[in-house]
Amino acid sequence: MPRYAYVNGRYVPHGDAAVHIEDRGFQFADGVYEVVSIHQGRLVDEAGHLDRLQRSLGELRLDAPMSRRALSLVMRELIRRNRVRNGLIYLQITRGVAPRDFKFPKDTAPTLVMTTRRIAGAASATLSDDDGVSVITIPDIRWKRRDIKTVALLPQALGKQKAADAGAFEAWQVDDDGYVTEGCSSNAWIVTKEGVLVTRPATNDILNGITRQSILAIAEREGYGFEERPFTVAEALDAREAFLTSATTYVKPITRVDGKSIGNGHPGSLSSSLRGHYVTFAESDRAERYVAG
Ligand code: PLP
Repeated sequence: MPRYAYVNGRYVPHGDAAVHIEDRGFQFADGVYEVVSIHQGRLVDEAGHLDRLQRSLGELRLDAPMSRRALSLVMRELIRRNRVRNGLIYLQITRGVAPRDFKFPKDTAPTLVMTTRRIAGAASATLSDDDGVSVITIPDIRWKRRDIKTVALLPQALGKQKAADAGAFEAWQVDDDGYVTEGCSSNAWIVTKEGVLVTRPATNDILNGITRQSILAIAEREGYGFEERPFTVAEALDAREAFLTSATTYVKPITRVDGKSIGNGHPGSLSSSLRGHYVTFAESDRAERYVAG
């Protein structure tokens, strides 16, 4: 079955999809992106991802290539053509093609590309004891606007490679004061010995994950205690549980940080419960609120 990509108004075979070498995404990382999970044919948290996309575009003074409703329709059409039931859709918008000059070009149309990827099997709601992952900690060397989802991901690529070299799943980035900011492609959470969920507040220091926001809403609804505040690596090592959240992993329990066991070394009960609630949410109509306007 041919796989299609969407490039500036056309559905093209994935292998032929291309943008120009003077695209500002290629030259300056002058672009933003989103990743939305496709769960049993539904787009999970689509409205949240499109809200954040709009915000990222605004922060970079980048024009949207089309209305929100049109974007939503193109996403659905690409998913339909590629027959994706479970997987993800990637969407990137750059400031377009122009002769290389730092200043913004005038009258240049933005570039819009989308691709999909199939991932076998929907995320399972239940977790087995060996489903925990390891993380390492690394210094956070990024710029000061981590709240914008830009395609400038070199620090994260270096961090992820370091994690892979150490046999870990993710690298938690740590600020100059010893507090964890977030993973390279996920938000970071712990559960204290008292059973309180802790995650860093959504300032410019982190990307405000859409999964993070849904998990906070679930915690509130279920009456789980939570605090939005920074936590140190030492606090994480002493925690009862740790986990990470993202559109592609949902809720993933962490059982080792820098080689040391967290809690009893197995996925924690609160992490497992939140994952179950999130999967239920992903399978519900609420996750795919229709995007109008
Ligand atoms: N933090 C960073 C740096 C990320 O790159 C991501 C996702 O790619 C996240 C957090 C999680 O965000 P979301 O839940 O919207 O996928």
